[in-house]
Amino acid sequence: MTSPSIRVRMAPSPTGFLHIGGARTALFNYLFAKHHQGTFVLRIEDTDKERSTPEYEKAIIEDLQWLGVRWDEGPLKEGSYGPYTQSQRLPMYQKYLKKLEALSKVYPCYCSPEELEAERQDLLKRHKTPRYMGKCRNLTPQERKTLENQGRVPVIRFRIDETQPIQFHDLIRGDISVDPAILGDFVICKGDGWPLYNFSAVVDDCEMKISHVIRGEEHISNTPRQILLAQTLGLQLPSYAHVSIILAPDRSKLSKRHGATSVGEYKKMGFLPQALKNYLALLGWNPGDEREMMSEEELIQNFVIERMIKSPAIFDVEKLKWMNGMYIRNSSVEAITKEALPFLESYGLEIQSKKMAWLQKVIGTVRGNLESLNQIGHIAELFFDEKFSLEAEAKTYLTNNKDKAKEILKTLDGLLSQASHLEMEGFQKLQSDLKEKVASSDKKILFQVQRVAVTGRLKGPEMNIVMPLLGVDSCRKRIHIAQSCLV
Ligand code: GLU
Repeated sequence: MTSPSIRVRMAPSPTGFLHIGGARTALFNYLFAKHHQGTFVLRIEDTDKERSTPEYEKAIIEDLQWLGVRWDEGPLKEGSYGPYTQSQRLPMYQKYLKKLEALSKVYPCYCSPEELEAERQDLLKRHKTPRYMGKCRNLTPQERKTLENQGRVPVIRFRIDETQPIQFHDLIRGDISVDPAILGDFVICKGDGWPLYNFSAVVDDCEMKISHVIRGEEHISNTPRQILLAQTLGLQLPSYAHVSIILAPDRSKLSKRHGATSVGEYKKMGFLPQALKNYLALLGWNPGDEREMMSEEELIQNFVIERMIKSPAIFDVEKLKWMNGMYIRNSSVEAITKEALPFLESYGLEIQSKKMAWLQKVIGTVRGNLESLNQIGHIAELFFDEKFSLEAEAKTYLTNNKDKAKEILKTLDGLLSQASHLEMEGFQKLQSDLKEKVASSDKKILFQVQRVAVTGRLKGPEMNIVMPLLGVDSCRKRIHIAQSCLV
C-alpha cells in the first residue's frame, strides 16, 4: 500500500529525557510512515508548563536525530500544519473550546484539589472507581459567580454522556468497548486556559491530519476520552494502534534499577544508533521470520502493523549488547573509527598526533570482542605508549622465567635496534632471527615473553599485528621497561 495520506506522529512531552519506550514509539511511527511513503510528524506536547523544559525538548530532539528517526514535519523542519509545538498553538485550542462551549459540552469546575482528593478517597473506601462525580456539573450562573467571588479559579471539564458506550477498533488489540460511566467528566483546560493533553492531542491530531495514532499501551485509557472529544467536535477519528508495553526481564516495569533506560545513556555508553534502532524495532514487532539483524531498509520494507504483538515486550539488555557488538564488527572500519575516537579520547589516549590509517588499524584490531564502544579505551590502550605498564600477572610471568626472559629480551632488543620497520616480512624476519639466536628457548616461551614485554599483558591481539602497529621505537621502549623489572 502506498498512500501519501498516511500521516503519523510522535508527540513527546518534554518533561524528561527520551526513554526506550518513547524512542520505540518514534521508530514504529517512522517505519510505518516510510513503509507507506507517508509522513512522520514530530509534535512537542509542552502544555504541562510546570514540568516541561526547553532543555528536555532539546535533548529529545537531539536523541531522535542521533537515532536517525527523521521527521518530515516538526521542529527545525516545519511544514503545512505548524507550529508543531503546542505552547505555540494556544489560539487553536481556544477556537475548539469555544465550539464545545457553544454545544454546552463543557462547564467550569471550581472544586479545589483538596475537595477532589476527599471525593477520591471516599469512592475508594466504598470500592468504587475514583472519578469526578459532577459536583459542578449543574451550577447556576449565580452559584458560579458566588464561587468566583470567593477567588476560586475554575478548570474546564468535558461533560460526558454516560449512556453511550465508547467503542473503537485498535489495529493491534481488536475491538474495545468502554463504559463512559467510569471516566467521569474530565478536565480539558486549566484555570489559565491552557489545554490538557487529551484535548490538545485530539485537536492537533485532527488539525495535522493524522491518519494513524501509534503509541504505547499506557495511553489506551486516554483513547475513549479523545474519541468522545473528537466525536463531539465532529472531527475525523484516526485509526489507533497501541503497541505493547516494554518490561524488564523480570517482567516488572522497566526502571532505573534495571540499568540505563534513556537513549542518551546508551549513546554515552557507546551503543551505535543502527544497533539500538534494530533492537528497538524488534520490541513488540517482528518481521514474521527468525531474522534479527535488519538494516533500516529491511525494517521499512517489512514493517506492517499486522506483525505487531500485543503481549509485553521484554527489554533484554544482553541481547542489545550482542547486537551492538555485531554492528561494531560489521561496520566499515572507517565508520567505526569515527564513532570510536571520542571514546578513545575520553579514556585519556592521545590520538591527535596519530595518523588516521594507524588509528583505523588499531580499532580494526581491537573491535572484535566489544559490546559497546566505551569498552574500547581499555582494550586499545595497549597500543598507546603513554598508558603502557606491565600488569601484575605479566611481571610475575617474566620473573618466573627470569633467565630465559632476560636472554630473549636482550636479543630481541638487539635485533630491533638494527631493524628499520616491522611490517610484513620485517616481522617474520625478526622472528626467525630471534629463534635462531635463542635456539634453546621453546617456541611458546619465546612468543609469550615478547607478548608480555611488548603489551604488558598475558593475552591480547596477535603479535604479528601488535608489533608492526607499535613500530620499532615503541617496542624497544617497552622492552626496556620490561627488562628493568628483571634486574
Ligand atoms: N505527550 C504524550 C506523551 O508523551 C503523547 C501521547 C500520545 O502519543 O498521544 O506520552
